[in-house]
Amino acid sequence: MAQMINIAEPIIESAEIKAVNAVLRSGTLAMGPKTAEFEANFAAYCGTKYAVALNSGTAAIHSALFAVGIGKGDEVITTPFSFMATLNPILMLGARPILVDIDPSDFNLNPDKIEAAITPKTKAIIAVDLYGQPFNYAAIAAIAKKHQLVLIEDACQAIGAIFNRQKTGSLGKVACFSLYATKNITSGQGGVLTTNDAQVAATARRFRQHGLTTDYEYAELGYNYRMIDILAAIAIEQLKKVDQFNTARQRNAAILSEGLSGLTGIIVPEVIPGRSHVFHQYTIRITGNCKVSRQEIMDQLQVRGIGSGIYYPKPLHFYPHVAKLGYKKGDFPVAEQAAREVLSLPVHPKVTVAQAHQIAAAVRDIVSG
Ligand SMILES: *Cc1c(COP(=O)(O)O)cnc(C)c1O
Repeated sequence: MAQMINIAEPIIESAEIKAVNAVLRSGTLAMGPKTAEFEANFAAYCGTKYAVALNSGTAAIHSALFAVGIGKGDEVITTPFSFMATLNPILMLGARPILVDIDPSDFNLNPDKIEAAITPKTKAIIAVDLYGQPFNYAAIAAIAKKHQLVLIEDACQAIGAIFNRQKTGSLGKVACFSLYATKNITSGQGGVLTTNDAQVAATARRFRQHGLTTDYEYAELGYNYRMIDILAAIAIEQLKKVDQFNTARQRNAAILSEGLSGLTGIIVPEVIPGRSHVFHQYTIRITGNCKVSRQEIMDQLQVRGIGSGIYYPKPLHFYPHVAKLGYKKGDFPVAEQAAREVLSLPVHPKVTVAQAHQIAAAVRDIVSG
């Protein structure tokens, strides 16, 4: 029986294992020199002045919102079509998420619909680089500037992607990344925030350690969001390989798109001119005129040893703690349609050229009935 082709797989090699062993032997397990080294390398990679390492992408978003001054009563505009971690930190700070529908071409916030959602209470926009493609930065940054809103980038899925020569991590005042096991680079669990603003970086550093300034002086409320050196050592090794990993994802995506083009009922992902896509997910749409349902495609792929996934099966406003803010079915039809149609296929760097062809052929075969 051939090996299952999973939807996500981490690549951990001897370099990561050696690096962890070295930290374990060093005796400095918690936040220390490896975390500082990772931060310096990560900032250099993104082209930002500062990077602050944290213990998750969620912690990075929470810290970013706190560092730009979001609090009780503020409104923060974001997308209904993302991972829950984009939205929950807004609620953690007592602020209100204001959802705006997505653009069907890139699955990201639709800039044409943002201005209608702005009120005197609006303070920030969290835009997501969903599936690994930057959001429409030119249009959304212009809106943020015009209305004096802080632009926060949720780049958790898009390390290394580019919008007009500008890397993710540098789009907006502050950006957030995740190092979770399924992301393009990983330390198992972890996060990092990037910014060019010294004040934002300093505030995030305090927030990471209970508001700590100097020895046992606490300036304000904070959390325990520290990265540890054991994980920073893994992240340092992963960061060296990020471009190589992303190139393999792009190669696999190109094979899949070529193999799946021209099929009735299948829409392959669009890479918008001026942007690069690092394919955290390779996501097709199964539309109403497809002969086979999405569930049946998934089941038949599974039988053939090919994993697949739905990111995301429901838009955020369908979940009770978001719905109770006053949202209902039908409010964001483009996001709701995406949730019904999307299907992600394996694209990660462990998928070989032959396997990418095999996945495309399997989907073609299944949907041809
Ligand atoms: C993974 C992810 C997060 C959260 O990251 P964690 O490290 O799991 O906390 C936030 N936003 C998006 C879009 C993500 O994909």
